[in-house]
Amino acid sequence: MREPPVKKILYWCGECNVPLIGKTCGCGAEGHPIPLLQPYDIRPALEHDRQILARLLRERYGTDSLPSVILLNKTGGIDRKDLVIANGGRFGWLSFDPGHRRYEFELVFDALPSMLPLITKNILRLDQLKGAGEDVRNGKRIGGKKYPASGNITDGGVVVTWDGYAGVGVSTKGIVKVKEVGKVSPANVSDPGWEEVISRNRYHLKNLERNAIRFIRQQADHAQCVNISFSGGKDSTAVKELARRAGFEDTYFVDTGMEFPETLEFVRSLSIKTILHGKDFWREVNRHGPPRKDDRWCCEHLKLAPVKKWLAGKGECITIQGNRWYESFARAGLPPAVKNPYHPAQTNISPIRNWRALEVFLYIWWRQIPCNPLYEKGLERVGCWMCPAMLESEFEYVRTAHPDLYREWMAFLKEWFGKRGGASRSLETGAWRWKTLPPKMRGNDE
Ligand code: SF4
Ligand SMILES: [Zn+2]
Repeated sequence: MREPPVKKILYWCGECNVPLIGKTCGCGAEGHPIPLLQPYDIRPALEHDRQILARLLRERYGTDSLPSVILLNKTGGIDRKDLVIANGGRFGWLSFDPGHRRYEFELVFDALPSMLPLITKNILRLDQLKGAGEDVRNGKRIGGKKYPASGNITDGGVVVTWDGYAGVGVSTKGIVKVKEVGKVSPANVSDPGWEEVISRNRYHLKNLERNAIRFIRQQADHAQCVNISFSGGKDSTAVKELARRAGFEDTYFVDTGMEFPETLEFVRSLSIKTILHGKDFWREVNRHGPPRKDDRWCCEHLKLAPVKKWLAGKGECITIQGNRWYESFARAGLPPAVKNPYHPAQTNISPIRNWRALEVFLYIWWRQIPCNPLYEKGLERVGCWMCPAMLESEFEYVRTAHPDLYREWMAFLKEWFGKRGGASRSLETGAWRWKTLPPKMRGNDE
């Protein structure tokens, strides 16, 4: 069977003002497409994301009026960089600056119809600016032009207005560069919640569930040994439920010894019987050094080895797992079933490989399955609490919520790099996470 291509767009119902996971809405209308950015994964803004957005919007634009349904499309950057989508289009950019350890938010032009009436700060009124009024009246191209920042405008995102027209720009050291402008008609949009999103997508959710269960049964019904790999994250939470509905319950969890306390608590609440343990992390880390994004020795020692040991003697096994194409470029070609190269008697099957994070959360909410609370606290991905694959924005959660763990890790890094003459390597900006720094991080390696 030919795999369906990766979805590069999101549909949105303009009638109901809700995102759609298929093309048509439960109301019968067809959605309009919104192009997404690589790796095309899209997820709901959760509690912590909403708090940050509301704070930044208030500080920058003088309003904290946020739509109830906001989506985040992660994109590449030095650290966290999300395209924010709301009200049927692009809404802004949310990014984390690891050097200054702060979030930044900038509204985009498409957000103006719904947001313009609410914005009270950092507005550049071109018709009141000497010279600029002439530009406007003469119909000169305003996009790309630079104007002095008047009044109380501070560095960052700016809204530009004049006589029925509006735009967005950015102010740097007293100069506003206009990015995009046009005629803006304020729009009164409805504000549905996630319950409406689920209800309008119910048909698609049922289809997704039916297809995933059918796939699990096709692959596993005649197997001698079938189990579910549960990581404590949202993807394996959805997969565990799908497997249960397909008739499979034998679940294992690998405790690396470096799990977040929240994850361990969540796993305990699910009464999973098989808890596997790998080698002792602290002993291994003193031999191999900190795990890096480009040297994840930890996967083998902490995760793969204990599973191999547990499966030894069980014969051929099918493991149902939650890997998805959209998680990373590396997983974009993930086949439906693949032998584990580390333990060929184990075949891993991925029933939600073609789901995006949006589908995963909608499914979890629709089926009312408990989920790891870390997602609501600002983590996009759940793993070990010092995982090098974490973003610095996520590591901020460790620093503030688990200061003892944070201090322990920083002390280890300082000692490790100190002994090896790499003490200047920046620990605060997260550069320790690479053995060989990628070009995007070189500016931060002081
Ligand atoms: S979650 Fe991160 S630190 Fe933990 S085993 Fe996997 S790669 Fe290593
Ligand atoms: Zn609709």
